[in-house]
Amino acid sequence: MNEKHVYDMIIVGGGPGGYTAALYGARAGLDIIVLEKLSAGGQMALTQQIDNYPGFEEGIDGFSLGEKMQKQAELFGGKSEYAEVVGMDLNADPKMVETDTGELYGKTVVIATGANPRELGIAKENELIGRGVAYCAACDGMFYKGKTAAVVGGGNSAAADALLLSRIARKVIVIHRRDTLRAEKIYHEPLMNAENVEFRWNSTVAELLHKDRLTGVRLKDVVTGEESIVECDGVFISVGRKPATGVLKGQLELDNSGYIAAGESTQTNISGVYAVGDVRTKLLRQVVTAVADGAVAAHMAEEYLAGGAQELPANP
Ligand code: NAP
Repeated sequence: MNEKHVYDMIIVGGGPGGYTAALYGARAGLDIIVLEKLSAGGQMALTQQIDNYPGFEEGIDGFSLGEKMQKQAELFGGKSEYAEVVGMDLNADPKMVETDTGELYGKTVVIATGANPRELGIAKENELIGRGVAYCAACDGMFYKGKTAAVVGGGNSAAADALLLSRIARKVIVIHRRDTLRAEKIYHEPLMNAENVEFRWNSTVAELLHKDRLTGVRLKDVVTGEESIVECDGVFISVGRKPATGVLKGQLELDNSGYIAAGESTQTNISGVYAVGDVRTKLLRQVVTAVADGAVAAHMAEEYLAGGAQELPANP
């Protein structure tokens, strides 16, 4: 009977955190594999322009940066496999990761599954996806050339989406439940100065109006309670992210917002299991903080494999 192969490190998710763990792990001589569902880069691959990752003074698109990170890890022996992870047994010895193509075994596991767009949770939202409801301006913005697009949210994602759409659409309407943007200051001026960007402050989307596709949204003013209708061809929902932890099925401790409870050490409540990037509890979810996590996780895994004592933090 064939003995099962046991990797030193299985990395679940090929975003910046995952591929940095792969780079550091491979350079340390570990036998590693990265499991990625779609393409290298994760959510980053959907970002058209990244201007705040050091070393690229003219910025770089997220897809190219993802490919570069993958190539760099592979150069040192890090392997990738395109497969969807459907389950895990993190308490087993060795740890087991089940994909749609079979089971893999590892002495350590790095969870780098990131976070997915959060939904508004209103009627018809799911049914209208692709027919006027969208979550990614970099992916679907081109369908709104010369049209009217609304953007819901006031954070960095909503601001970046609105700016991107302002260069494609005829008109962009930002719908935000507060009277001021939460987005970083760098976005405020270009958005306020864009001639085709309008704001609907203190407003939430009460209803998606549609025939065979979206025709507009009914807004509710959160201060006065008044309702109004905004006609638009598309609505981009940019109201944050939710951590991709479904596949863990309760095996790891999560914080109150559903992120994996792991601090700067990336150590989770299970020995030999580390959480990196957007999926873990952290102050700032950026490419640059995800890559830092990846390096730390690889270092932690290396020590763990070498038999170094690692205390599980009481409060990570
Ligand atoms: P975010 O910062 O959490 O902002 C979410 C926005 O959506 C907030 O303005 C929030 O309103 C609003 N919102 C949440 N739930 C809502 C609901 N049910 N209905 C209406 N509005 C709702 O999320 P994000 O903008 O997606 O950013 C996620 C992370 O990625 C952040 O750490 C961000 O800094 C990072 N990011 C960075 C960049 C960049 O640096 N260039 C670009 C994109 C994302 P309130 O303000 O009222 O809470």
